[in-house]
Amino acid sequence: MKTDIQIAQEAEMLHIREVAAKVGIEEEDLEFYGKYKAKLSDELMERVKDRPDGKLVLVTAINPTPAGEGKTTITVGLGEAMAKLGKKALIALREPSLGPCFGIKGGAAGGGYAQVVPMEDLNLHFTGDFHAITSANNLLAALLDNHIQQGNALGIDPRQVVWKRCVDMNDRVLRNVVVGLGNKMDGMVREDHFVITVASEIMAILCLADDLEDLKKRLGRIIVAYTFSGEPVTADQLHATGAMTALLKDAIKPNIIQTLEHTPALVHGGPFANIAHGCNSVRATKMALKLSDITITEAGFGADLGAEKFMDIKCRMAGLKPDAVVLVATVRALKYNGGVPKDELNKENLDALAKGIVNLEKHIENLQKFGVPVVVTLNSFVSDTEAEYEFIRKFCEDRGCEFALAEVWGKGGDGGKELAEKVLQTLETKESHYHPIYSDELSIAEKIETICKEIYGAKSVVYEPAAKKQLARIESMGFGKFPVCMAKNQYSLSDDAKLLGRPENFDIHIREVYVNAGAGFVVALTGAIMTMPGLPKVPAANGIDVEDGKITGLF
Ligand code: ADP
Ligand code: MG
Repeated sequence: MKTDIQIAQEAEMLHIREVAAKVGIEEEDLEFYGKYKAKLSDELMERVKDRPDGKLVLVTAINPTPAGEGKTTITVGLGEAMAKLGKKALIALREPSLGPCFGIKGGAAGGGYAQVVPMEDLNLHFTGDFHAITSANNLLAALLDNHIQQGNALGIDPRQVVWKRCVDMNDRVLRNVVVGLGNKMDGMVREDHFVITVASEIMAILCLADDLEDLKKRLGRIIVAYTFSGEPVTADQLHATGAMTALLKDAIKPNIIQTLEHTPALVHGGPFANIAHGCNSVRATKMALKLSDITITEAGFGADLGAEKFMDIKCRMAGLKPDAVVLVATVRALKYNGGVPKDELNKENLDALAKGIVNLEKHIENLQKFGVPVVVTLNSFVSDTEAEYEFIRKFCEDRGCEFALAEVWGKGGDGGKELAEKVLQTLETKESHYHPIYSDELSIAEKIETICKEIYGAKSVVYEPAAKKQLARIESMGFGKFPVCMAKNQYSLSDDAKLLGRPENFDIHIREVYVNAGAGFVVALTGAIMTMPGLPKVPAANGIDVEDGKITGLF
């Protein structure tokens, strides 16, 4: 069997000009990065902004195994299948982070015959958006430390600096560091921290901003520290906003590439769904809705994380209305949720499937709470058996849920026709009554409780004393109307990665709460979740090489 990278490297790509033309984008609106990648101009958005929106379909999943369950693969395959059925479809994905690329999970270009290309470019430097985000983030950090060094006119308390540096790498030693060692000219000594770029507030801002003006306003509102008297200090006060905007001027433009079957895909922005809000940029999604009849987009990890944030943060803020949700399940993840160890997931095991399917059941119930019609799809693996398929199909049909088998990994768009037809039928016959799960008016604590109880199925929410204080401070600062971005492990519905299936009677532990005033949400860290991941014992990086000028081992 060919690897993802072999399939991707054998692809015959069209010039991106020809791909873009399929959705009516003309050459003058493309800013080329070589032959196969381009950014879309700001003028294009201006020109199409009064057109009616197409339909919006979200792809999400059950709780995954560490390898990922194929949401990107399904998103790409579904877009290709729609094109095969003669529909004008656009795919809207996130850009990959180097963290998982060199860590454990792999890239984010899809898999098998449902991939976007050029996959090496996408997985590595792409069009430099992450570089721009990292630079803007670290410029703000440098200006802040320099302000303290140059006399600290604002009275910043070095112990209350909340802005962290970032790098797009899994690098655990940077979680807690000391900066400013040396002599007087080397800066003020203080404890500092790094987050991975995809967890930076700048990433969230880039993904939620409507346009450059909005981006600038949001950057200016970022809270970087508190003064000795407890007042917040913003990026505007450090006069950092203009220079940060300059660094992000091109990064805010959506990127366009193609699938293996030349269906266009907008790939833009990439916050993780466990430690950030998990959705591609609002700009790319809005652009896609104007340019196509159907936009298919993916939110990260399971529906407890990505889909919840898509509904409660992205759609709420951007005024988007999803028309349908595709919920991806795999036989292996259902068995994993039924307690089967990772190395035995390839063997038929109907008992474990019956045990683990409660996870799918909970996600179906959750998505229905947002009022959006759900189609379940099973991402087919070669190790799956007919008996396993039939069990899952019947389970869904017994619950009045549409079901389709997707074979896009092995067959590309042809393998996604059953799913595409089910989605089209759903769009035509079922109305979406989308609403977020909580209202703006609830307190932050009530919002957190709603997510924990309604979505995760928790019994109660337990706060560490520090988190309680932070919560009170955020409310008193006037940020109580913000939505909440939960940071939680992706494997379990609970905050304990080992509680699989559909756990009950558990508490969610809130360790820390902080406000992202520029992004416009409050972040709540649960359990042991980290905003800077580490590498595993055998990192994927060990298998990557360049031979005869060609990258190998990138999955
Ligand atoms: P997600 O978006 O849910 O994280 P991806 O679509 O990125 O998942 O897929 C994760 C990995 O699983 C990729 O390496 C992909 O090639 C592989 N994969 C996905 N679907 C299949 C399948 N049906 N059979 C085999 N491997 C698959
Ligand atoms: Mg993905």
